[in-house]
Amino acid sequence: MSRDDVLLEVSPRPAVDGARAAELAAGVYGVDGPVRELGSHQDRNYQVDGPDGRLVLKVANRSWGRPAVEAQNAALLHIAARDTTFHAPVPVAGVDGALLHEVADGDDLLPLRLLTYVEGEPLSDVGYLAPVVVADLGSLAARAGAALVDFDHPGLDRVVQWDLRRAGDVVAALLPSISDPGRRALVAEVAHDAGERLAAVAGRLRVQAIHGDVTDDNVVGHRDDAGRVRPDGIIDFGDLTRSWLVADLAVTVASVLRHHPTEPARALPAVLAFHDVVPLDDADVAALWPLVVLRGAVLVASGEHQSLLDPDNESATGPLESEWRIFHAARTVPFDVAEATIRDALRLDAATRVRAARAAVASGGPLFPAVSDIAVVDLSVTSAALHSGRFLAAATEREILHAAAGSGAAATRYAEARLTRTSLDSPVEPDTYALGVDLVLPVGTEAAAPWDSTVTRVDGSTVVIDSAAGRLTVSGLRPAVTGGQDVAAGTPLGVVGGGEVRVQLCVDPALDAPHFTTATGVGGWRMLCPDPSPLLGVELAVSADDPARLLERRDEVLARVQEHYYAEPMRIERGWRHHLLDTDGRAYVDMVNNVAAVGHGHPRLADAVDRQMRLLNTNSRFHYAAITEFSERLAALAPDGLDTVFLVNSGSEAVDLALRIAQTATGRPDVVAVREAYHGWTMLSDAVTTSLYDNPTALGSRPDWVHLTSAPNTFRGRFRGAGSGPDYALEVRELVERIASEGRPPAAFICEPVFGNAGGVMLPEGYLSSVYDTVREFGGLCVADEVQVGYGRLGHHWWAFELHGVRPDIVTVAKAMGNGQPLGAVITTRAIADAFAAQGSFFSSAGGSPVSCVVGSTVLDIIEDEALQANAAAVGDRIIARCTTLMGRYPIVGAVHGMGLYLGVELVRDRESLEPATAECSAICDRLRELGVVVQPTGERANVLKIKPPMCLTAESADFVLECLETALRDGW
Ligand code: PMP
Repeated sequence: MSRDDVLLEVSPRPAVDGARAAELAAGVYGVDGPVRELGSHQDRNYQVDGPDGRLVLKVANRSWGRPAVEAQNAALLHIAARDTTFHAPVPVAGVDGALLHEVADGDDLLPLRLLTYVEGEPLSDVGYLAPVVVADLGSLAARAGAALVDFDHPGLDRVVQWDLRRAGDVVAALLPSISDPGRRALVAEVAHDAGERLAAVAGRLRVQAIHGDVTDDNVVGHRDDAGRVRPDGIIDFGDLTRSWLVADLAVTVASVLRHHPTEPARALPAVLAFHDVVPLDDADVAALWPLVVLRGAVLVASGEHQSLLDPDNESATGPLESEWRIFHAARTVPFDVAEATIRDALRLDAATRVRAARAAVASGGPLFPAVSDIAVVDLSVTSAALHSGRFLAAATEREILHAAAGSGAAATRYAEARLTRTSLDSPVEPDTYALGVDLVLPVGTEAAAPWDSTVTRVDGSTVVIDSAAGRLTVSGLRPAVTGGQDVAAGTPLGVVGGGEVRVQLCVDPALDAPHFTTATGVGGWRMLCPDPSPLLGVELAVSADDPARLLERRDEVLARVQEHYYAEPMRIERGWRHHLLDTDGRAYVDMVNNVAAVGHGHPRLADAVDRQMRLLNTNSRFHYAAITEFSERLAALAPDGLDTVFLVNSGSEAVDLALRIAQTATGRPDVVAVREAYHGWTMLSDAVTTSLYDNPTALGSRPDWVHLTSAPNTFRGRFRGAGSGPDYALEVRELVERIASEGRPPAAFICEPVFGNAGGVMLPEGYLSSVYDTVREFGGLCVADEVQVGYGRLGHHWWAFELHGVRPDIVTVAKAMGNGQPLGAVITTRAIADAFAAQGSFFSSAGGSPVSCVVGSTVLDIIEDEALQANAAAVGDRIIARCTTLMGRYPIVGAVHGMGLYLGVELVRDRESLEPATAECSAICDRLRELGVVVQPTGERANVLKIKPPMCLTAESADFVLECLETALRDGW
């Protein structure tokens, strides 16, 4: 057989059928049991369920040869003796004690083995590979490589088409099988370029025994708590060979691309994890992407070839299209970009040739010799100029630049994440990072060549020159040079025309560098498109943001119990309406912020605060209009009779004060509260805070004046279903009767009229009215905590208690009232308020301050003028309808709670047992963050996606969020 024939690897699979496999298992290995065929490109594999466990009978393709199969057995034994951090098959001896046998197939004798079965779920069925899973794959590839580093065997030296050292030959030999001429030519060209790139470093690559196929097809794993398959076993060593160590990683990376064909950077966690176990050197990093591309080329060439030979073998023909996706995903990333991105991710310095070009940049003369003073503008997320949604207007960058330039010069910053480049409601990272700078310069300003260069291209107003520093592209000129011309440093290139000027460098003239890139891409592209500051005589580079360091500082200075969302949070520095923006300029739909009820960055609110802050802000003992006017409006919103207001600074204070008022007014200490509730952190509000999620010891540590009743949760509580109101109400009645009979009738009953802490669970019909009747019958007062659910958020009602046709005696309000400004209130009757005077006077310095009251009134104006309550009703109804559809499609969606824009999507592992899908909920929140949505778990079991966005959430953004949720539910998380 010629070398080419071997590479083509055309032997059909062994003709051993299931009956024969069962016979062999019994006869050769003494194992009786049912057999089932497992898919394979070239071998025959049968699962054998023997009495002592599951095994795999393998009949090797005739092309492998016995030494190769012996090598596999030896490698498996070698690994079993060395690395126990991952699972791999172990050869099982036959009745004769041998580990390798032969089976006749026609004229051939084929190698036969029995191996232990590696338990686990395949990864190939998983659509979305989370970063942790991708990292697991990289780590597995590295651990296999590390375990084999000292393994040797004569059978390793075989010619196999999957050995990437031979990829060029393999592709060339298989190319004719690609019937489409366009595709064929593309594969040939791409493989050729990759081969050339690889040739420069191939001699420096480490060679050893490698697995060669650590891919989604060949690994299995176990589900973690969140239900993600975490690879921990390698099942097939059929491609074991001697090759480049880094080829193992390339194969793994290519396999990740199958899952993320449009986002190749998603393979980076595999590279980082590999590097953690087996550090990559310069040659490896340079070789990696060419090898990934070659792997893609071999996959498609071989797949096309195999499907010609064996059109009925599904395991060869099935994956062909996804192999083409791998190929395209790999080839569309230029080698330099891939290498720079990997170097940046691994925190390695730029490649040597890139460093040389950058040094040449620094030695250049001035690009605009006559310009000495350039104003630098800020277009970042924190730019003061980009308020009031101004960043969304197309002309903003230009306007800001021109305003800063006046009659002189102004420039944007290099490597800045421009807020002006963000996109709202987008599931992918925006291209926000500037790889060049834009300038405004006086018309007629001369541009000169900074170095001896060649004018490569003059295209309209764009002049492109190449030199040792790479490529310089200047647009916005009236050119004075022509293409092909050599120019000495200082030669005029042209003069500035009427419009803006753009300047960009790229060390590699062959690269078509974009003007902007993503946060993921910027590390690599920064290496390739250097800072043009030296040419402009002004510092234009933005130093890279380090949210992780800021978080460390936060953790060092703040109490640990003062939590933050997300383990590795993005740095959020701006909000606009229902969007949050991080320092990369990535926009997220804010689905958690009921505090920012009228939306973030509201200009009307900002103006009102600004005006009042300049007039007066003081304690509430002074006489000023704002406190009266706001309190009148608040009282007018409350039901008849609730006409007296106390102003404080927070929900906790409001609840604390409400309980003190009730205790004073009734002269009783005892309070009835519901389980699983949150009411605040101050002494009294904490006493009725019973959520074990917030405080695991809550139930055992309540003061004796707090009496608990069941959480009236119709979905998973003690009584279930819409008709459970009377049962829950009876429980309260029995409790009140009992404590009253013990001489401790309650001062108050407190609860949220929609169970916000449980994720917006609606109280059952009749419950609240019945409980209020009971409490009043025994002389107590009824407190409605509307801190979360009140103030118009429910859309169909202003107050949640209106749903139940009741009128509380005391209402607590906060959050939405101040749109983030500390502001809370207690609203009650004049008589109850007066009774509180028995405790002396009441005074809260900043509660009801002029600024807070102006905020309160302006928030009310905005809610009214922008019809935000009606919006909450309409958009809320829309979300409920879509979520209900999702419930029909995805069993994990157990219930949709709430009303308007206070909603909860409760996730369960089982709809019968209602086992909470807690880890899944957290993982889904992480996935939604990747897609551009901020949502958090809530509820006692942290298994409810809480949906309580600013009330200005639009239908479009709501649809976007639901699309993202469906993506996560469909493809995994
Ligand atoms: N009551 C309820 C129902 C709440 O949800 C909260 C806060 N989540 C509070 C009171 C306490 O409000 P604050 O955080 O403003 O003190």
